Amino acid sequence: MLLPILLQGCLGGTGYRAYPRARTSVYTDIWNFSDHEIAADQVDVLYRRVARLMAITPNNSTPRPQVLVVSPAYIQEKYLTIHPLAAARNGTALAVYIPHQNQILIPDFDRTLLTHELAHYFTFHYLSIPRSGWEAIADQVVDAEEAGG
Ligand SMILES: [Zn+2]
Repeated sequence: MLLPILLQGCLGGTGYRAYPRARTSVYTDIWNFSDHEIAADQVDVLYRRVARLMAITPNNSTPRPQVLVVSPAYIQEKYLTIHPLAAARNGTALAVYIPHQNQILIPDFDRTLLTHELAHYFTFHYLSIPRSGWEAIADQVVDAEEAGG
């Protein structure tokens, strides 16, 4: 998810540690580097909602997403590694899904960011859609989630 750099200030107040607290939820593995608690059941609720909104039935043979709660600076660094051209456009990422590592990077538990990146996870594993179509799908899922769908 891309947003103007000014919005990064909204994430103030969260600190990050060198070592994560690892949690296993029903559907995900959570590596929380932040000093905020991340409720595993809230992540699972969102996982189920996104799957339902996308009309996807998750199966056990698909790798579980790893949810990493890491600093905005780390997310930006990873994002630029994956999308080097974004640097030239001053692209800033608040969260990112890395398909080949099956990792979702978020700075804190944030419904919108996590919904968006979970949509990418499900798109990658369950739909045959070129990367250029991913953002529109994620935006639709976020809209539907926020509308209480
Ligand atoms: Zn996205």
